Amino acid sequence: MKTRPCPCPECGTILDAATGAFAAEIDHQRITDLKTLAPEATPEAGSLTICIKCTQFLIFDQNLILQPLSHQQYLELPDDLRSVLHRIRRVIHDHPAGEEHA
Ligand SMILES: [Zn+2]
Repeated sequence: MKTRPCPCPECGTILDAATGAFAAEIDHQRITDLKTLAPEATPEAGSLTICIKCTQFLIFDQNLILQPLSHQQYLELPDDLRSVLHRIRRVIHDHPAGEEHA
C-alpha cells in the first residue's frame, strides 16, 4: 500500500490501509471504476476518493493532501462517476468501517 496516510478533512479519520481494504471490498461488488476513486497506487492530484467513516467525497490537491470535494467540483464530474461515488457511499453505509469483527 503506497498511499500515504492522510486524514479526512471532515472527521480526521486517517485514510490509508483501511482505504485499501475498502477498495478490495468494493471490487467484490464489481464497481470496476474504483481504480479512479480509491487508487491503490500513489494517488495523483485530482484523484477522487471517499472517507470510509463519514463518506465525505474527497479529492487530492496539488500537494496530495485530501480536500473535501466542493459542490462545484462535484457538479463537474461525469454522471457515471457521480453515480459510482453514491454507490460506494451506500456500500459504506451498509458496511460501516470498524464493525467487521476485529
Ligand atoms: Zn471523514
